[in-house]
Amino acid sequence: MTHVFGIPMRTRFRRVTAREGVLLHGPCGWGEFSPFPEYPPAVCARWAAAAREAATTPWPPPLRERVPVNVTVPAVDPHSAAAIVAASGCTTAKVKVAEPGQTAADDVARVAAVRAALGPAGRIRVDANGAWTVPEAAVRIRRLDEFDLEYVEQPVPTLDDMAALRRRVDVPLAADEVVRLADDPSRIAGLRHAADVVVLKVQPLGGVWPALRVAEAAGLPAVVSSALETSVGIAAGLALAAALPELPYACGLATVALLTTDVVSDPLVPVDGHIAVRRPPVDEALVAASELAGIRRDAWLDRLAAAEAAG
Ligand SMILES: [Mg+2]
Repeated sequence: MTHVFGIPMRTRFRRVTAREGVLLHGPCGWGEFSPFPEYPPAVCARWAAAAREAATTPWPPPLRERVPVNVTVPAVDPHSAAAIVAASGCTTAKVKVAEPGQTAADDVARVAAVRAALGPAGRIRVDANGAWTVPEAAVRIRRLDEFDLEYVEQPVPTLDDMAALRRRVDVPLAADEVVRLADDPSRIAGLRHAADVVVLKVQPLGGVWPALRVAEAAGLPAVVSSALETSVGIAAGLALAAALPELPYACGLATVALLTTDVVSDPLVPVDGHIAVRRPPVDEALVAASELAGIRRDAWLDRLAAAEAAG
């Protein structure tokens, strides 16, 4: 059984305005295949493997019953940023910075508003998605650290850049794109010189079990983040976060609220800054309401077939 879904986002995020993908069913439940539009089949192969794993392979036993999560703040105005944080119930916020078309002042205003909304005890991490150069990152991070940053995710594009930047700032750095876009994410030479934290995403790493192996190989504290999935994909992220031997940071799994709807009736949203580890059943009526038809459906099934052929 497969469903092809399309769900609009509430706010543009990573230049994405809607999430589309395929839900696969197997003996272990549902899996989600939802690579971003620009990814070629060779990259999508791991996303497809993660969906198949969810459908056919039992996940590792959970070591915890709930996972602390951060609220995710897109590149919105300061007033909206504060409202998103206040509504979330989370004490950690991840703030998008370095959005194309925005300025350094926009980032400062957003982070300042988030700090005011969280209070002094809250934690703030920012994500630049590799948009800065090393000198630019050094300046921007020092300015943003006036609001006390927990870490900066992927400030600069490459591992070498991160290693160079790490010698210039004392805010911890988290590796995201350099890990998930690597040829072999479980064998990245020099990762420990370039990063203090590793970000793990189930679909880009090929499944819960491969992501666990990446964490083990990295030998760094890990944060599990979503790829802006429905609750079907988020359930896999929760399974990974629940299986990690140590989980010192809040995870980036509280993202279903960025979508206008979901495919389960009891979505994986946080309560008091935590998501309970569970796997809610797909709701047939909600799936039917978001089902894509015609050429868009065919294009997604072709995309899945191409990804599996490339895997
Ligand atoms: Mg990131």
